[in-house]
Amino acid sequence: MSKLKIAIQKSGRLSEKSLELLKECGIKFPNGGGKLIAESKNFPIEVLFLRDDDVTKYVEQQVADIGIVGENVYLEANLPVKVLEYLGFGSCRLSLAVSKEVDYTGITYFEGKKIATSYPFILEKYLKQQGVNASIEFISGSVEIAPSIGLANGVCDIVSSGSTLMSNGLKEVDKVLDSQAVLISNQALGEEKQVLLDKLLFRIKSVLNAKERKYILLNAPNDKLEQIISILPGMKSPTVLPLADEGWSSLHSVIQEDQFWDIIDELKALGAEGILVAPIEKMIY
Ligand code: ATP
Ligand code: ZN
Repeated sequence: MSKLKIAIQKSGRLSEKSLELLKECGIKFPNGGGKLIAESKNFPIEVLFLRDDDVTKYVEQQVADIGIVGENVYLEANLPVKVLEYLGFGSCRLSLAVSKEVDYTGITYFEGKKIATSYPFILEKYLKQQGVNASIEFISGSVEIAPSIGLANGVCDIVSSGSTLMSNGLKEVDKVLDSQAVLISNQALGEEKQVLLDKLLFRIKSVLNAKERKYILLNAPNDKLEQIISILPGMKSPTVLPLADEGWSSLHSVIQEDQFWDIIDELKALGAEGILVAPIEKMIY
């Protein structure tokens, strides 16, 4: 029987979350032991643990069928593979940074200057778009030290909190790209593998949907029910159950995590009581 092969980062910022996602999809693996390949006990899938820089290439060459990688790394690889899903973890941005002392007024600062980066392909495209001529100095690591050792006038590197830049005397001046982990796939999977992938994708989507949403329960005075329902966009419409207390109902619904605090304020203002908000583990439409 055919098996799906997924490539994920062996050890780094995406490793734990990638394995966690598979686990949340109900896919179990025997305990690691530093192996480079692991086969699931309860789903026809094999995990290959690789350097993140190799994931896109191996998916393209069909060494693996699918993979999890940072969008930044996938875009830099510039290979014909498909992005199937944005996974919501590994968030960061690719940004241009210069020495704190520079009086930066705009992207034209880089005209005729030298920029050190591990992302020459993405950077070149961006500079072209911006109409800036700068030379690109490729370095594979420790990009942040390039300006202080006189190798470049600025850098183009991954930033999340900005603390690495700061501790190297740099400031972020322009964002090139927002990035997060993505699920990629080979473009020519056979029929059997496609069936397995569809099954996996369905599970992944259910997990991701659930993460963005909360289950909400509350008690509402009947005369405000209609108004409360109008600000509670459920999956269909909310469930309303009468309470033993006359004139009151219990209301159940699903809300977007990012709307949570706004909605809560409105609900309280309308007289809602006993509001409970609970996480959802899986959500199937
Ligand atoms: P490998 O040994 O696999 O080559 P790496 O050192 O190149 O690992 P990591 O630093 O583990 O890679 O980062 C993996 C991915 O995590 C990045 O490509 C990026 O998409 C994402 N990421 C999120 N936040 C950050 C951050 N603060 N710095 C770097 N990468 C980040
Ligand atoms: Zn890497």
